[in-house]
Amino acid sequence: MAAGRAAELGASVLLLEKMEKPLRKLRISGKGRGNITNAKPVEEFLQKIHPDGSFLRPAFSLFFNTHLIQLLSKTGVRTVEERGDRVFPASQKAWDVAEALLSWARRMEVDILCLAQVTGITRNSEGLFSVAFDHRKAKRMAQGRKLLLATGGLAYPATGSTGDGYGFAKKLGHSVTPLRPSLTPIEVAGFAKLRFNDLPLRNVRLTATADGEKIGEEFGELMFTGFGVSGAIALRMSRNIVDALEARREVALLLDWKPALSKLQLQNRLERELQGNDIPNVGSLLRKLTPAPLVPFLAEQAGLQVRAKICENVKEKIVNTLKCCTLRASGYRPFSEAIITAGGISLNEVDESTMQSKLVKGLYFAGELLDVDADTGGYNLQVAFSTGWLAGSKMATDS
Ligand SMILES: Cc1cc2nc3c(=O)[nH]c(=O)nc-3n(C[C@H](O)[C@H](O)[C@H](O)COP(=O)(O)OP(=O)(O)OC[C@H]3O[C@@H](n4cnc5c(N)ncnc54)[C@H](O)[C@@H]3O)c2cc1C
Repeated sequence: MAAGRAAELGASVLLLEKMEKPLRKLRISGKGRGNITNAKPVEEFLQKIHPDGSFLRPAFSLFFNTHLIQLLSKTGVRTVEERGDRVFPASQKAWDVAEALLSWARRMEVDILCLAQVTGITRNSEGLFSVAFDHRKAKRMAQGRKLLLATGGLAYPATGSTGDGYGFAKKLGHSVTPLRPSLTPIEVAGFAKLRFNDLPLRNVRLTATADGEKIGEEFGELMFTGFGVSGAIALRMSRNIVDALEARREVALLLDWKPALSKLQLQNRLERELQGNDIPNVGSLLRKLTPAPLVPFLAEQAGLQVRAKICENVKEKIVNTLKCCTLRASGYRPFSEAIITAGGISLNEVDESTMQSKLVKGLYFAGELLDVDADTGGYNLQVAFSTGWLAGSKMATDS
């Protein structure tokens, strides 16, 4: 985006990409469907961005969701809006977006060099950047007065995002805030031996606490996996959970399986089930209320034997467990499974109206490399597109 925009404004642009094709991560985004942006208005959009969405105001006022949709439309990619204002290519193929942006950049005469891995960057006293890179086993060098680092974060390193940019930025004098995986699944104590095989749970409520203090609450879809919890609501809450675990706080996950029912309503539901059916024991009662693979787990959580007979005390334990089942978060999944990197180039050192470094003239940043990360829903790609567009515009026009 930055390269295409700078070239559109007349700059001569060389793009170095270490993989055999650019935009690998975009191609697999949204499970291959490419949730490229979100149609929410800017104020709501900014709320989804951490740690400080307001840094992005200038970038969004220059190039926001509607601009992206227009640009894609000009390049032949129609888009559709889905639940939660999420925007996808109408073809449902992220690949089409990647190819359209590449063709656009090529038409703008960006010189795109693939299999070109940058290994070092220096800047001389006259402000000229020298970029050393390996290209098909040859050592090469490129020079320029303006340099953009858009090397992404550390998540899903197989896509090429291995965090090289943090090292380059540090060598050029920048500081990097602590890096940790975010939008990442959470490990739960004791889950490894339960061997859940990606069991989706719909319409549940998850509340997270750290040392007893509430740090998040979400309603929606959760997934029990072989190691813990994943799915939309676990991912959305993972930022706070990861930070709490890193601070060595005790993190509890309180799961309400029936958030639409009060305790009393759930008790009544239990009574109705018991009256109308032949329910000899705890296992068969739980089976009426939850999917079969959960029955032994929930019985254990309630401190009951699956074969135990139903009595008042048993009913109360089942209601209590279904309304609040407590799990202990024991860890989180690594960068290789995370969707985004939290932390990055310190925003204090970057001019938000240009994306230029405040420390090194001619050095610019865009995308996930910066200390910004957002919720799921198309926000992260828009951050990358908007900061890229702003950086490209300014690189071409600033003296
Ligand atoms: C599985 C997955 C699904 C996702 N789905 C969505 C989604 O649906 N919607 C959404 O908004 N966000 C999604 N994201 C997040 C989003 O894809 C990223 O935030 C976004 O791609 C960041 O863009 P970027 O240009 O900053 O970095 P990247 O896309 O990571 O691109 C950085 C590029 O720099 C190259 N590079 C790195 N180091 C070097 C080097 N030394 N030399 C040369 N080249 C180098 C890399 O090869 C890479 O191509 C998803 C992320 C993942 C992992």
